[in-house]
Amino acid sequence: MAVLDEYGEVDYDFEIDRIVSRIREVKASKILIQLPDGLKRYALYIQREIESRVDHDLEITFSGSSAWGACLLDDVEAEAEGYDLLIHIGHVEYSYYRPRYRTLFIPAYYLREVSVEALDEAVKLLRSRGADNIAVYSTIQHAKQIKKVALYLSKFFNIVNSTQIGEDPAKVSLVGCDYMKPYSIRDKVDAYVFVSGGVFHPLGLGLTVPFKPVIKIDPYENRSQDLTGFIEKKIRARLYKILEAREARRWALIDGVKGQNRVWFRNYLKKLIRSKGGSYVEYVSHIIDRNLILNIDSSEIDAFVILACPRIPTDDLEDYHKPVLTPAEARMALTGMHNKYSFPW
Ligand code: SF4
Repeated sequence: MAVLDEYGEVDYDFEIDRIVSRIREVKASKILIQLPDGLKRYALYIQREIESRVDHDLEITFSGSSAWGACLLDDVEAEAEGYDLLIHIGHVEYSYYRPRYRTLFIPAYYLREVSVEALDEAVKLLRSRGADNIAVYSTIQHAKQIKKVALYLSKFFNIVNSTQIGEDPAKVSLVGCDYMKPYSIRDKVDAYVFVSGGVFHPLGLGLTVPFKPVIKIDPYENRSQDLTGFIEKKIRARLYKILEAREARRWALIDGVKGQNRVWFRNYLKKLIRSKGGSYVEYVSHIIDRNLILNIDSSEIDAFVILACPRIPTDDLEDYHKPVLTPAEARMALTGMHNKYSFPW
């Protein structure tokens, strides 16, 4: 149930009691809190709630950096700057990065239920796709709603991943670059259902299981939407970029830091580029955006690969005038195996 606060309704469970008990446990007097951009507006609420339940002097600082995922924790900074504890809100631990410092993860579960209207709309859309066997996933924010969504949809469809939908919500939650769970059952699934706001996560799912229908249930807008056509268009655009990069000789490989550092894949691509007689320049950066690409770019670069976050090429830089590829797309361009689209690694 949403909490009514003097600043309005607070629709997320920030698990203040769990935060306070961890603060007490480590006897923290100075904490750093990371919030994703979309939840930063709750900083004052969180601060006030923590302060009202802690009976000792406590210094609370919020990180102003964008916290896109648990792949980029402010852990090293928290330790270096003398904080006793890092609290990372909005994600669970990233599979490819263990925190280097004392970190508490608070998923920030969304408190409102998905409406029956939105579920009925999803049923209609799934039927129009001729689906019998479906799998249901969500972001971590909506993972607690999955059980009810699956229960409702199970009246009409076979839920292929019903055994994954247990007591631990993290088991059905996905991040934007790891879709192994839905990928592993793709042969048994006619269509996927994804519970989330926005299209970021369902788009990543659709890129991983090309040409399977993806229906999004949006708990904020209380409606469902068939994203299959949108995703197919995206895949065609990505295949065109891969074809463009086939002739590239000089590559810029841009890696990230912490959980976004993927040296193993960089080494693999370097080998492929060398085997084709090409050349490369390597960069590593905390923040990878259009400005960085513009600064790096020159007449000596034919194509870019972003090894850090594979969503930067697909979501932010698709309109760049040279190919900017994900690691898997670069592999496809370099090996000539571009008849079957892969995402993201
Ligand atoms: S999609 Fe990008 S920001 Fe999200 S977890 Fe993966 S690497 Fe991190």
